[in-house]
Amino acid sequence: MRGGELVVNEALKTRALPEGSYDKLLEFLRLYRDAVQIIVDRIWGIDEKLSKKKLHRLFYSDLMRLGFRAHHAKEIYINAKSLMDSARGNSGRKPVLRKLSARIDKYDYKLDLDSMTLTLKLHNDYEAKLKLVSPRERVEKFRSWSNYELVVKYEDGEFWVSIYFKRIVKLLKPRTVMAIDLNFDNVTLTVFTLDDKLIRLKRFKTPLRKILTHKIWIERIQKRYPKSWRFIKGVRKAIERHGKRIKNISWDYAHKTGNTIAKLAFKHNSVIILEDLEKLKENNKKEDKEFNKKLGLWFYRRIQFCIEYEAMERNLQVAKIDPRGTSSKCPRCGGKLVEDGYRILRCRKCGFIGDRDVTATINIYKKYKYISKHSRCGVPGVAPNAPKPDENPSGMQGNKNEAMTTES
Ligand SMILES: [Zn+2]
Repeated sequence: MRGGELVVNEALKTRALPEGSYDKLLEFLRLYRDAVQIIVDRIWGIDEKLSKKKLHRLFYSDLMRLGFRAHHAKEIYINAKSLMDSARGNSGRKPVLRKLSARIDKYDYKLDLDSMTLTLKLHNDYEAKLKLVSPRERVEKFRSWSNYELVVKYEDGEFWVSIYFKRIVKLLKPRTVMAIDLNFDNVTLTVFTLDDKLIRLKRFKTPLRKILTHKIWIERIQKRYPKSWRFIKGVRKAIERHGKRIKNISWDYAHKTGNTIAKLAFKHNSVIILEDLEKLKENNKKEDKEFNKKLGLWFYRRIQFCIEYEAMERNLQVAKIDPRGTSSKCPRCGGKLVEDGYRILRCRKCGFIGDRDVTATINIYKKYKYISKHSRCGVPGVAPNAPKPDENPSGMQGNKNEAMTTES
């Protein structure tokens, strides 16, 4: 097992107050929007593939004539192109831009985190200075990151900016393996040394029963007012209240657990092994259609999200394995396990007896070890937050483009 590198992206979204008049900034945003629209209109009918080079040739000089800077121009035609691509993929209708929002390259702004100011370079050499309205603590962590792009928006009389940061994470070389099993009642973790010694066992009770109670309440209310619950204010409010509780309980739990687990993993210098929930879904599809609803796949996802996030903050590796068989196979001989009392499993073939959750983590650990031994690249799975090839904001392809909302 070895370390490695990983690029992590994160956006800081904050309100921004213009210093002085913001007429020019608004003018810029309008001009930008209209320029994107003009290009969308012009390339809409074109069927051939438009490369960046071609877009540049077609539109660069026109955009310069409008007073844009070189990198504005690039952002504008790339934006138009990606809007067109996603519109074709979705509705098939030509996008019509209404919102005021612009994506700006790092060459066209200056960010000063000390004074919390942002200077934007606009058209015709105008500049706009904005004060970022964000708590210090939120900004602090980005000091050691680099930023490469931002989106500025005007919405309901307020300016907002999303600044895209990235950092290279040098992953630690793990000395132990932490296996994590998620099930309805418990989150169970075990830590193994690389020579199979179990050195730590910890269990967290999940709040899923509590969550289920709120769910049942919601269903009960909806059943009592099957058609009208949406329209009666008191009823709708009651449902919202239960929904809110579910949300709070689950996020709260996910944050706390993710944090505790990552701290422990850091202490033991572990690679964290999670179950691949997508595979879990596939495996269970046939057996239980209600699986998703009953066992709260969404809840597991939330916990994993927090574990992965906190692990990343500590430069820890995370890997995922296919959970198939991890709760039904004997970790000693591979035989089938049967229930033998409350949460106890027994192997008919070799006599192995073990706690259900712990047994699952042993199997997860063994699966990871097997895969990492037999895969050429050493570490199975992909580091969680690794940006997909098309995730770079400038290269948005078909994904939701938060800079521009289109209506058709
Ligand atoms: Zn056995």
